[in-house]
Amino acid sequence: MSIGKRVESIYRGSVSKISGLRIMRSFRFRIFLMLLVVGIIPAVIVRTAILSSYEDRAISVRESEVMNQLSIIANHLITYNYMGDPSNEAVNAELEQMSNLYDGRILIIGGNFKAIKDTNGVSMGKTIISEEVIKCFKGQKVVNYDAKNGYIEMTTPINETITDEETGRDIDVVRGVMLTSVSTDTLATTLKILSRVAWTIDIVMMVIIFALAMLFSRILTKPFNKVTEAISEVKEGFSTEALSVPDYAETEHIVEAFNMVLKRMRALDESRQEFVSNVSHELKTPITSMKILAESLMGSEDVPNELYREFMEDIVGEIDREDKIISDLLTLVKLDKTNTSINPSQTNINEMMEQILKRLKPIASLNNVELILESEREVVANVDEVKLNLAFTNLIENAIKYNKQDGSVHVALDCDHQFFTVTVKDTGIGIPEEEIEHIFERFYRVDKSHSREIGGTGLGLSIARNIIIMHRGTISVESTPGEYSVFTVKVPML
Ligand code: ADP
Repeated sequence: MSIGKRVESIYRGSVSKISGLRIMRSFRFRIFLMLLVVGIIPAVIVRTAILSSYEDRAISVRESEVMNQLSIIANHLITYNYMGDPSNEAVNAELEQMSNLYDGRILIIGGNFKAIKDTNGVSMGKTIISEEVIKCFKGQKVVNYDAKNGYIEMTTPINETITDEETGRDIDVVRGVMLTSVSTDTLATTLKILSRVAWTIDIVMMVIIFALAMLFSRILTKPFNKVTEAISEVKEGFSTEALSVPDYAETEHIVEAFNMVLKRMRALDESRQEFVSNVSHELKTPITSMKILAESLMGSEDVPNELYREFMEDIVGEIDREDKIISDLLTLVKLDKTNTSINPSQTNINEMMEQILKRLKPIASLNNVELILESEREVVANVDEVKLNLAFTNLIENAIKYNKQDGSVHVALDCDHQFFTVTVKDTGIGIPEEEIEHIFERFYRVDKSHSREIGGTGLGLSIARNIIIMHRGTISVESTPGEYSVFTVKVPML
């Protein structure tokens, strides 16, 4: 065999082994197997039980039949004084007939244990002493069935009834014993025929049960196939509707769970599409502005130097904005990765807040906004310093950006044994109640034009919230438009 063919046959072998294993694991196969077992086992038990009880019954009927006949013969033996004269023709004929009828042998043993008659003729005159014979002389009948060799052996006492002279009562005296063996071959033949018939019935039943098991396993597992088909349709994109297979409670549960997953995936897909369209839009806006500025410069001749400078400054502003959007997006994408983990270290939060305020002071002084830090106590927590620094910077920067001329930003830091809390309160424009639930969404801005004017990307709060959630913390907002906004952040110390 060539190597190619050998590899192919090995491959085919392993494929058939895998598909064999798959069939064994299939629900339908197991139902089929169960029905088969449930159908066939009782049939086999019933057959075996019927045959064995038939055999017992037939043997006991044969035993009592022979016993009756032997009792009659025993009476005749006494009546015709056979024990004294075994040449009685009538009795001998009767014994021969009996032994021929049951394909057996009758031995008549006299009081001295000597065989006075043997229908086979071989043991005549021989002394026959056996346990059964001795028991029988004591008046006890013994019956043995030898299933292996196919005969029944029995001993029958030959009783003579005499009147006791002293008491005047009738008593039985055992004059001899009849040792009889009868063949059970005819019964065995009947049993064989019956067993053959039973086997035929069994085979027919097995075929019927096999067919029924195939049919029922197919019918019972159909709803599960329906589920697979429905899921495939969704997978292939042929259907977008919620699935429904109410045939069984189980299929309904599976389908409900699938519908929920589907809904979640669609929501994720929609938010991804929305995100992509928002990103494209946000990235395009500065480029469009730059193009317009550059084209208007190119289109007009003898542009005054001041105007040229002003346009170039605008272009640089747009480039800065583009740069900010891209770096914010990169931060957000990094935070969004499921395997992003925080890198915690013991951090002095008081020092961190001081640093942030110091860094933001120049921006605040542009609008003459006062920055106040109020620390209740020393807070040292196990946090990712770089990430948390970014989150608080975004919050405080917003409090400065969306503030009024000569306003203030009040940052308070406190802790208990579990959490530390930072509140950032401003005296700014505030956020309308209906907008509050949206401000953490990516690219969401309450007032687009105003936000753009003051250089927002709509990503700052989204980044801050992601970082706080990564620390298993919470963030909440309270605001009165035109008066103030207060952001409260709670982060576990450990
Ligand atoms: P942006 O870059 O636009 O500031 P953010 O995600 O940081 O984006 O904020 C989203 C929006 O929430 C802002 O555009 C603004 O409308 C509103 N906002 C955030 N912080 C404040 C605040 N302290 N006061 C008023 N409005 C705020």
